Amino acid sequence: MKIEGNIALVSGGGSGLGAATARRLAVGGARVAVVDLSKEAAVAVASETGGIGLGADVSDAAAVEAAFAHAAEALGGAPRIVVSCAGIGTAARILPRDGALPIALFERTLHVNLLGTYTVLSVAAKAMAALEPLDTDGARGVIVNTASVAYQDGQIGQAAYAASKGGIASLTLPAARELARFGIRVMTIAPGLFETPMSADLPPETRAALEAELPFPSRMGKPEEYALLVQQIVENPLLNGETIRIDSAVRLAPK
Ligand code: NAP
Repeated sequence: MKIEGNIALVSGGGSGLGAATARRLAVGGARVAVVDLSKEAAVAVASETGGIGLGADVSDAAAVEAAFAHAAEALGGAPRIVVSCAGIGTAARILPRDGALPIALFERTLHVNLLGTYTVLSVAAKAMAALEPLDTDGARGVIVNTASVAYQDGQIGQAAYAASKGGIASLTLPAARELARFGIRVMTIAPGLFETPMSADLPPETRAALEAELPFPSRMGKPEEYALLVQQIVENPLLNGETIRIDSAVRLAPK
């Protein structure tokens, strides 16, 4: 599918990978709705990209529906390109030394990362299914989710985060299969370590140790490289129902 002339919506677009994606889609000629928990952050990115910025919690179905409705009204139609980047990074051992079980954190992580992604996908699919097909294949749109390499090689302390991302990877194929009859593709990107505010808090020694494990290139990814993969997924009509790792061939160690 072409980017130019289409409408896009990026959740988590106020920061990091989502902001880079919003910028790239805008440069490619899409009208972009930037959605983030912080309306201020979304509006700041939208002021660069020329689209609109909206505040919404992706795990709140009513807020997501309102954001899609607002975007459609402001940009002239439902988005055909939807990218879910909203998410939280959490870390806790199952059995922390203080003895307090972090079950509430597990629930919150699944709520934002997995339920939030599913909610955006559901609302996006409903809106896209009502659009006219674009080409002889019958393509109506593409939805790109964001997992993490932790979905396959989660480290100690990542049980909740890895489970939330594993859920996203696992729903990719059944979603693609179900939405195929509407001409909607569903893909997931599993990033390794990227330079964003989410990873900025890593202690320097942890960061150096992680970078040393990256076979090639031995550096953190740039958000623009994630955004480039989103563009490539949108543009290649045969990519569907798959989770792609973008990670310098890293396989994370247990800790
Ligand atoms: P980021 O810079 O923190 O951006 C994530 C954005 O999502 C933030 O603006 C955040 O807002 C927003 N957000 C959080 N909860 C939300 C909610 N409930 N509703 C709407 N927006 C919400 O992080 P990033 O590094 O770009 O991460 C983007 C995605 O990539 C995440 O799903 C993350 O798990 C995944 N990922 C990142 C890396 C990495 O190395 N950076 C690696 C693997 C996977 P607040 O800042 O206000 O919380």
